[in-house]
Amino acid sequence: MEVTDSFADTRALYDGRIGLLPTMGYFHEGHLSLMDMLRERCDTLVVSNFVNPTQFDKEADLVAYPRDVERDGELAAEHGADIHFVPSVEEVYPPGSSTEVTVGAVALGMEGKYRPSHFVGVATVVAKLFAGLRPDVAVFGKKDAQQIAVLKGMVTDLRFPVDIVAAPLVRDPDGLALSSRNVRLTPAEREAALAISRGLFQAAMQIEAGERDPDRLEGTVSRSMAKLGTDYVELVAADTMEPVSMLDGPAVLAVAAHVGEVRLIDNLSIEWDNGRAKPDRGMILEEPGRLGTLH
Ligand code: AMP
Repeated sequence: MEVTDSFADTRALYDGRIGLLPTMGYFHEGHLSLMDMLRERCDTLVVSNFVNPTQFDKEADLVAYPRDVERDGELAAEHGADIHFVPSVEEVYPPGSSTEVTVGAVALGMEGKYRPSHFVGVATVVAKLFAGLRPDVAVFGKKDAQQIAVLKGMVTDLRFPVDIVAAPLVRDPDGLALSSRNVRLTPAEREAALAISRGLFQAAMQIEAGERDPDRLEGTVSRSMAKLGTDYVELVAADTMEPVSMLDGPAVLAVAAHVGEVRLIDNLSIEWDNGRAKPDRGMILEEPGRLGTLH
């Protein structure tokens, strides 16, 4: 595996079909499963590792974001990466850089409402990665469901010739969605955070039993999360990310909540098979994720 810090040096190493996994580093088993999935779909696997300052609304969150590029490099190499691309802020945002990508309605609700500049930062950095690295295929995790909808919209609108693949949401055996931020939870906070996935799984059972009323499904999750600082619990259409008045098509039940100092997001995507609603609880690990729980 090669480690690069410039777009041009990275492209000079290319061979065949190029796959890109954009990340902000501090890898856990969720990132590794995305690498494994992409490895099968490309010849040259590029894992980018860049804590993108423009997608953080709060300076404190950016400063507290965990980083360990060396460990990340070892894990990426073990999971078949050919190139670990670790650019500087100047490589991604050249001095005087002033161009931004603003995605429309799909970026306005939920995360867009609570973190107003977040998706401009995400769309801008991913556009730069696509333009600078020119991948044929890129993988994103369903953990960030609204991010996938925003980036699919961007790729369609700006005509980027990139296939976007959505990968399963990876959870610890107790249900907690893996996140680089989990490392900042104390053991008591981690226990409290389980109210999120517990609520989503209760809603999943209600959906399987035929419940189609968004208020009741959102109510189930909100009650489970009553002791957390909930930002939102919303049932939205999978493509537009707009609230639905009835669950009758592909949808996402999405939540965001504060647990202590840490803000967590999670969701249940609801797919359909022959007229039957199929809540997707994601990929549940058999063993607790080693990487996401290190203190
Ligand atoms: P991040 O480093 O947090 O920006 O995440 C990089 C990629 O990994 C994004 O596409 C995320 O959606 C994805 N990802 C993060 N956590 C998970 C998870 N628990 N399951 C699946 N994908 C994830």
